[in-house]
Amino acid sequence: MVFCTRVGLTDDDKILAEMLMRFSQEKLAPMAAILDRDNLSAACHLPALAELGLTGINVPEKFGGVALKPASIVLAISIIAQGCAATASMLGAHFLGTDALLLGGNDAQREQFLTPLAQGKGLAAFALTEPGCGSNPAELTTYAMREGDYYRIVGGKQFISNAEEARTIIVFAKTDKNLGNKGISAFILPRDTAGLVIDRAENLMGIRGGKAYALTLDCRVPASNLLGNEGDGFKLAMKVLDNSRLDVAATCLGIAQAAFACATEWTKARMVGGKPLNMRQGVQWTLADMGCQLEAAWGLTLQAAYLRACQQPFTMAASMAKLFASEMVNFVTDRALQLHGGYGYTQELPLERFVRDARIMRIYEGSSEIQRTVIGRLIAN
Ligand SMILES: Cc1cc2nc3c(=O)[nH]c(=O)nc-3n(C[C@H](O)[C@H](O)[C@H](O)COP(=O)(O)OP(=O)(O)OC[C@H]3O[C@@H](n4cnc5c(N)ncnc54)[C@H](O)[C@@H]3O)c2cc1C
Repeated sequence: MVFCTRVGLTDDDKILAEMLMRFSQEKLAPMAAILDRDNLSAACHLPALAELGLTGINVPEKFGGVALKPASIVLAISIIAQGCAATASMLGAHFLGTDALLLGGNDAQREQFLTPLAQGKGLAAFALTEPGCGSNPAELTTYAMREGDYYRIVGGKQFISNAEEARTIIVFAKTDKNLGNKGISAFILPRDTAGLVIDRAENLMGIRGGKAYALTLDCRVPASNLLGNEGDGFKLAMKVLDNSRLDVAATCLGIAQAAFACATEWTKARMVGGKPLNMRQGVQWTLADMGCQLEAAWGLTLQAAYLRACQQPFTMAASMAKLFASEMVNFVTDRALQLHGGYGYTQELPLERFVRDARIMRIYEGSSEIQRTVIGRLIAN
């Protein structure tokens, strides 16, 4: 697949793609099955990701990043995900945290907390979800009380990617219990803060190297760790999620691309009834449907990236890209496994892992139902 010929990608992207494809195939892909089987953290790849500048692709040079344009970020994440979806997911969670600092922080906060993260000196995490609420943050119950020059944050969080491995966690808490979304504020919580307890990692179905943890909080942070003003947290989270939905869509593109490549190779080589499987019309139709879905998801994702680059509103475009790409990757990985027959169902081949890795994409960072709600509301209004 020639990436630079896609709308919105340039010759520079071709060079980026070739460099990243080598890294993804030589370093990430061989480890992907091992991380999955042994339930190991993809954070083992952090030094290599940092060396390539990948930990700061969303951050301006002034704050230690390499500031790629949105379409190039999509391309980069998709190539990482082709080699290892768990690594792409871990990076996506890192971008949630670093985007929150970039979009919500002042320059002093960015210099102190964002720069080392962009340079890959540690991972970021983003703690919005709680045991009692995921889809509707207005219901979150973690509370932050001002105590002199500090805030005391008390509560619990659930499914927080990178929390254990993180250097810095962005925590969302209510500063006013009576205000729903408008009472939510965002805080910078260094990982070593006293009173932060991180439970063991969840035993996940897929992206097993992208670790997610439950947190218990009874901590104090300096008042200067508040991002923006009290009550700004919900708007900030929504802005960050607009960006991250493109990152999830890009991860879907990468997993699907890997599964599609396996399917085209396998059906070329596999002989059934004296001819290659891909000479059967039924198989060609399946490959055609997979290719169409994949290309359509690329189109929606790059369109959203284009709007973001032009600083146009892109909430609906990002939700459409995330919704379509996450449904697409479940379809493409399922069909790719089917084309491999019984071999696809074994752990000798990566197809069953692709299917498991794909499943979370319809759930996190706004489930498919929530994306439909966002898109539907924007269409109706
Ligand atoms: C591996 C993993 C990593 C994660 N990483 C992070 C992270 O780093 N940070 C973080 O903050 N969170 C993270 N999450 C949490 C994730 O974003 C939530 O699980 C997700 O938003 C859904 O919330 P929930 O699990 O509470 O489900 P619920 O909100 O309880 O929803 C349950 C079901 O009901 C549906 N539903 C909910 N509301 C509606 C509605 N109004 N109409 C129709 N259907 C509805 C949902 O789509 C879903 O299918 C992660 C989760 C996982 C599994």
